[in-house]
Amino acid sequence: MERPFEKDDCIKMRRLFEAVAGTTRLEEPEQEHLHKCQLCRGVFLIFVNLYSNPSVASSKKPTAA
Ligand SMILES: [Zn+2]
Repeated sequence: MERPFEKDDCIKMRRLFEAVAGTTRLEEPEQEHLHKCQLCRGVFLIFVNLYSNPSVASSKKPTAA
């Protein structure tokens, strides 16, 4: 069983990636944590950069959806 996320926990990288990819939404406590935690924000920004980097995406396309 997964224990509930607590504000002082760091968010799992997979969750951050899925949030960036848009396949999941961060829960409110996770969002609060993201605002306060430099580590998680750093990871989050890395994923954002990766995801929006045209050299990673196969082609430059206007934001779909
Ligand atoms: Zn954290």
